[in-house]
Amino acid sequence: MQDCLFCRIVRGEIPAAKVYEDDEVLAFKDIQPQRPVHVLVIPKKHVTSLAHATPEDVPTFGKMLLVANQIAVDQGSPDGFRSIINTGRVGGQEVMHVHMHIVGGQEPVGPMLKR
Ligand code: 5GP
Ligand code: ZN
Repeated sequence: MQDCLFCRIVRGEIPAAKVYEDDEVLAFKDIQPQRPVHVLVIPKKHVTSLAHATPEDVPTFGKMLLVANQIAVDQGSPDGFRSIINTGRVGGQEVMHVHMHIVGGQEPVGPMLKR
């Protein structure tokens, strides 16, 4: 995906504060952090959203879940974190490349959904 923002970050065309990387997964700090710890974990391969996922994506998505806790601990959220994946219009997804938010810090992140 030539014009996808997160694909451009994967290719190094746009700078990002990377905190974790392996052959399948990249994690970097959110540019507008909502909590003291706010990291985005993405598959390096372009997948538009969870609505576009295929069985082929299962191992990479599993890896995203597996690395989440260590990223949170390393970034200063040792006692847990919240992971969020927004999907499509109803989910409020703004960047059309699957990403998992990891939010946390020293204090609880608060109620799960605001009305
Ligand atoms: P969404 O609403 O799609 O779940 O979340 C998109 C997230 O991407 C937002 O939290 C936003 O701050 C973050 N974001 C948007 N553009 C950039 C960027 O260029 N760099 C980084 N690091 N984060 C970005
Ligand atoms: Zn992409």
